[in-house]
Amino acid sequence: MRILIVDDTESNRILLEAMLRGGGYTNVLSASCAAKAFEKLELDRPASDLADELPKDLPCNGVDLILMDIMMPGINGIEATRTIKNHPHGQFIPVITCTASPEEMHINAAFEAGAADFITWPVTKVELLARVRSALHLKQEIDIRRQREKELLRLAKELSTANERLTMANLMLQRLSAIDPLTGIPNRRGFEATYAKSWSMAVRHRRSLSLLLVDIDHFKKFNDTCGHQQGDECLRRISAALSSCLHRPQDSVSRYGGEEFIIVLPETDAQGASYIADRIRQTLGKEDIAHPGLDYGRSVTVSIGLASMIPSLGDDPKKLIEMADMAMYDAKRSGRDRCCAFCQEELPIIF
Ligand code: GH3
Ligand code: MG
Ligand code: MG
Repeated sequence: MRILIVDDTESNRILLEAMLRGGGYTNVLSASCAAKAFEKLELDRPASDLADELPKDLPCNGVDLILMDIMMPGINGIEATRTIKNHPHGQFIPVITCTASPEEMHINAAFEAGAADFITWPVTKVELLARVRSALHLKQEIDIRRQREKELLRLAKELSTANERLTMANLMLQRLSAIDPLTGIPNRRGFEATYAKSWSMAVRHRRSLSLLLVDIDHFKKFNDTCGHQQGDECLRRISAALSSCLHRPQDSVSRYGGEEFIIVLPETDAQGASYIADRIRQTLGKEDIAHPGLDYGRSVTVSIGLASMIPSLGDDPKKLIEMADMAMYDAKRSGRDRCCAFCQEELPIIF
């Protein structure tokens, strides 16, 4: 434990130091004025981040207690105490003020300045050591509390970092769980999220919303003839071809099921959607994926169910999907490799 004595009277310094040494406190520093005390406490050292320092490594030259004379020329003991207690480094060091004239005014001022205790001259060794012991005990308590606070701060920081990581991982997981690993486009979960948003926008702005349900024709035969690996490759090529047919940023294609894809076309009426359906069929025609399961020379085709409506508040979003589904089965029934439409209040139309 290091104790700093600040007193302009040399005999007082010698007496205090002797009593302290007699009580086993051998680590004693002395200063004859406040300015020298500030120097000894290294108060001009740049303020470091106290939270990152262990109490024992705190600046202030490792001083644990200050015995401060009140009556000193220049900066008096009360001013000096105030300066130390207001300093980020000195605020945790207890100060015992010493005075020969214990006037109430002085004692009050000393406590207001931040002193922990006071001693009146002449002081006995027993009284001095008792007050020093209790002040050092207080300092130890403060150090332990600060150490705990620091530890708590570190834990809170760690916890918040871990929480941030967890949130990021969850977000990533959420994104991944909405993506179809085979084709890299959104899966049914991804579609549902996009569709829900598009639906509410269409309701709010009273705009057309269209869906294209795209089902590969005779895909079972394709798998049976070429094997699953080739089947997977075919699904990837079709998915890429469908994506290439969508040019507006709000349009999206998702893998709806095994060999079924669904396209959401916001702000698009039946005519616009049939234009996209045509583009899809033309693109797949150019892609010309051979279908060895069918007659020689035939390539992979799709059947498309088109549905379009201007949804109103209270309409069930499932309705449009059911319409697209019905239209798609019409396309299958009427020979595949075509697009059928089911528009609101209208009978199915074959394109
Ligand atoms: P239709 O023209 O009537 O649509 O006939 P289809 O054979 O395409 O339809 P069906 O529903 O009978 O068969 C779908 C096939 O799609 C069955 C399954 O082997 C295949 N399939 C579904 N998911 C996958 C997949 O992830 N990879 C592969 N390779 N094949 C798949
Ligand atoms: Mg199918
Ligand atoms: Mg099919």
